[in-house]
Amino acid sequence: MHYHLITLNCRYSHSCLALFYLRNALERHLPGCRVGMSQLTINDPYYDTLLRISGNEAEALFFSVYIWNSAYISRLVRDLARLRPDRPVILGGPQAPVLAGLTDRCTVIHGEIEGVDDSFYADLQQGRLRPAYRAVSGRPFFSPYRPQDFAGLLANRQIYYESSRGCPFFCSYCLSSVKHGVFHKEIETVRQELAAILEQRPVIIKFIDRTFNDDPHRALAIWRFLAARPGTTRFHFEIAPDRFTGEMFAFLETVPPDLFQFEIGIQSTDPATLAAVNRKMDVELAAANIRRLVRLDSIHLHVDLILGLPCDTLESFRRSFNRVFELEPHYIQMGQLKVLPETAIRNEAENFGIIYCEQPPYEVLATRWLDHRTIGFLHALGECVEAFYNNRFFRSLWRYILNRRQEPFLFFQALLETARDHGFFELAHTPELLARILCELAAGRPDRELLLELLRYDWLRCGHRRLPRYLATTPAGDIRAEMRRQLPQNYTGLFTYRDRDEFLKQRAFLRLSGAALRELGLSRNGRAGTVCFLPEQTTGVIKHSRAILL
Ligand code: SF4
Repeated sequence: MHYHLITLNCRYSHSCLALFYLRNALERHLPGCRVGMSQLTINDPYYDTLLRISGNEAEALFFSVYIWNSAYISRLVRDLARLRPDRPVILGGPQAPVLAGLTDRCTVIHGEIEGVDDSFYADLQQGRLRPAYRAVSGRPFFSPYRPQDFAGLLANRQIYYESSRGCPFFCSYCLSSVKHGVFHKEIETVRQELAAILEQRPVIIKFIDRTFNDDPHRALAIWRFLAARPGTTRFHFEIAPDRFTGEMFAFLETVPPDLFQFEIGIQSTDPATLAAVNRKMDVELAAANIRRLVRLDSIHLHVDLILGLPCDTLESFRRSFNRVFELEPHYIQMGQLKVLPETAIRNEAENFGIIYCEQPPYEVLATRWLDHRTIGFLHALGECVEAFYNNRFFRSLWRYILNRRQEPFLFFQALLETARDHGFFELAHTPELLARILCELAAGRPDRELLLELLRYDWLRCGHRRLPRYLATTPAGDIRAEMRRQLPQNYTGLFTYRDRDEFLKQRAFLRLSGAALRELGLSRNGRAGTVCFLPEQTTGVIKHSRAILL
């Protein structure tokens, strides 16, 4: 028998762990069967994808269905059924139940493949599948990868791994809260599986454990194991920010930059909002821990806020945003609430006055506390945060806003207005466009000159050798000539008389006021000075050219 397993990922670099579990389960239950796999993307042209799949001669097609690909798969399955109405199609994954009954030969698997009993495989072999099979949950599962996968199906892709399944919490908007119970793999099994994966030297392993540190001791044991392994693989974890121990922090202080990255769900800092979605989190402790992690400057921190939760007003969202911004994470994501089928919030949507999109991913459109217009405004503000903040471009500017105790939300509100005037939502968000919009914003502020100085500094710190026209100050040739006159023949650590000319030609220089130098922490004496940008990169999470005051 020949089966083909298909999914559509969001990006080419992603991979689909579920297909590998399914392949192994089919081969184990039906020895001798032939299993093929296609990992396509939702951005692939529809007709081309359809031709690729329709040309496959497999006796049954399996699709892994998620919120992001269910519309695409639903279209594919209906068209494939018109071409070969007799060929069974089996749908699995969290969104599969939503597509039940799509065609006459469509079967839905509810739950994890490990929990499906033998009758499914017998029915598959005999070509008499039922419309649905229900898996028993809590069955053991093992890493599904084989060494040869890494050179083929997984080449140049992110590797996903789960050391546990399920989540101990019950946030009402989350699919993980629907199933009860958490299953942790034996720690020794985890070590062995990870060791086998690491032999293949993947670029990144993403742990999909829903709360990786729900058991802090176990999390620490896995971290210790990973940090002790040689190699350059990075590791990504979804972390609960209020579940850290002193021992974990003591260990994290020893972790080199770029080894770990943490995704941290804050969602809201508003107590009423958190209570309305049944989310248990000690906000004060979470904030203190994030601050501590930021200070380490070795772990990339991605913090999530959810827009459109019940009870969340414009004012409370504004407070959450300000609070998160003040923690200075490297990335702030403002994602819309998605009102997913089977979640508790879906059942309560009417009570909360939640209107959401009819089709996946079911984004919130309005709530009793945020009308549609306000949600639109916050979404646009989130786009600005994504473009301007979630990169390395303007880090001194964000620090300045915090040092001056300016309200981050109001700053981004003003930035959004200026951005809209520039047609921001119709243009490519290049660094040039972003810097130009910030210059425009600065023009209307009393601290204009200082802001422009910080923008120039940030621009050159990102490795550019010249300032763009709208940021230009003293012509580059003039400052270079001045440096040529002023700098000594030998400068310890920078150049000797032999390579002085080359140094002056290659480096970027910037004249800054005493106020700007103080703001940047480069000098406190109040005198103006010249900063030189070196080719070496700084060592923390965010990499910049090293800058020194001459
Ligand atoms: S949002 Fe996170 S903590 Fe809450 S139930 Fe889902 S996975 Fe668990």
